[in-house]
Amino acid sequence: MKIIYWVRNDLRLEDNLTLTEFLKDPAEKILVWCETKATQRAGAHRRAFLDKELENFQLALKQSGLELLILKENFSSFLQKRTDVTSVYFTCGWSVEEKDEEEEILLMAHRNHFSAKTFRQGTLVDLKELPYKIQDMPFTFSDFRKSISESLLTHPPLPVPAGITPVPSEGKDRIDYYVWKSKKILTYTETRNGMMNEDDTSRFSAWLANGMITPRMVMKELRAFEETHGKNESINALEGELLWRDYFKFFTLKYGRAVFMEEGVRRGGVCHTIDDKNIYAKWCEGRTGVDFIDATMRELLHTGWITKRGRQNAASYLVHELKLPWIWGGQWFEKMLVDYDPELCWGNWLYLSGRGSDPRPSKLSIPEQVGLYDPTGDYRRRWL
Ligand SMILES: Cc1cc2nc3c(=O)[nH]c(=O)nc-3n(C[C@H](O)[C@H](O)[C@H](O)COP(=O)(O)OP(=O)(O)OC[C@H]3O[C@@H](n4cnc5c(N)ncnc54)[C@H](O)[C@@H]3O)c2cc1C
Repeated sequence: MKIIYWVRNDLRLEDNLTLTEFLKDPAEKILVWCETKATQRAGAHRRAFLDKELENFQLALKQSGLELLILKENFSSFLQKRTDVTSVYFTCGWSVEEKDEEEEILLMAHRNHFSAKTFRQGTLVDLKELPYKIQDMPFTFSDFRKSISESLLTHPPLPVPAGITPVPSEGKDRIDYYVWKSKKILTYTETRNGMMNEDDTSRFSAWLANGMITPRMVMKELRAFEETHGKNESINALEGELLWRDYFKFFTLKYGRAVFMEEGVRRGGVCHTIDDKNIYAKWCEGRTGVDFIDATMRELLHTGWITKRGRQNAASYLVHELKLPWIWGGQWFEKMLVDYDPELCWGNWLYLSGRGSDPRPSKLSIPEQVGLYDPTGDYRRRWL
């Protein structure tokens, strides 16, 4: 009889609770990664990133004598064909679609008498240690942040499991570069709104979103850096962003389907007034006629990544100027972004559309944004 590790967004050796527990089990092992609805919706940039990182993870496991199967089918159809399974190990997701996939596996486990061993991981704060039940989580980010005491942020990442050979990874190299080698972390607060340079922000997002690195791995380096270089406002600011990440994960768990629906978590009528696919296509392709927005959307189209400033401007423009459904904007980002993360993407869209947790108006003045972030026109010239 065999046990299966269903690999999901946890493509790493280090700080991987599910892998650690799976390897402790003496039974014969199968490791498998399967397509999901979300991976099938990926555009070319995200697909290329995912395929490369899957291959890297497969090679990393191979060095320790483990084989990772990468399959085109979904996990439940793979599992249906196996009659030799005693346990399935997997990391739980936060969003409805992932939870629906899990439900199917739990039901199969119940019917076919095998056990499902589930684990929560990948956030800075442990869900179980929140000082309230998830349903009572504070509504706004600032109240959430106030509720997180320093003691909840001290979990070190788990080491690479015993018997597994550690291997370098691009995500870990990026942490090393951003924190230690270039020390760009020291100027994060000054550069974080920049739109031109690769090191203006950490660019950890694609590896965080796909689980090649975790916020705890980042925090460990930030804390070690602090010990040698002293406390710094920029380190604090980056830590704050990682907490925003936790906030949206917990928020999605709390509100479930509402996060993905037009009304969002606020009561009241829908907010968009126009359902025009031609106008939407122009926004997607960077042909709105507003050069700052067009430059942003073309950067996204060509690279699969844009800065947070760019994301906020593009979202505000779609919702408040074009008055299109914000859901359409989220769908385009899902397809395009190499760092697509359901909770962060839809949580931020919801927030900017005014249907989320922040009661303040979220409309940005595009001329003002141009004056602040591209006064010389360099960014627009690069992409138009
Ligand atoms: C409309 C919209 C959609 C977004 N969609 C995604 C998405 O699909 N995937 C994604 O990873 N991020 C998303 N973000 C959040 C943010 O823009 C990116 O995480 C960030 O720009 C990635 O660059 P970085 O890694 O250099 O960030 P840094 O500024 O260096 O921040 C470090 C990390 O903190 C987290 N973080 C930063 N900003 C936020 C935020 N606003 N909310 C939650 N976590 C944050 C991310 O994990 C990020 O990698 C979205 C933001 C907006 C406004």
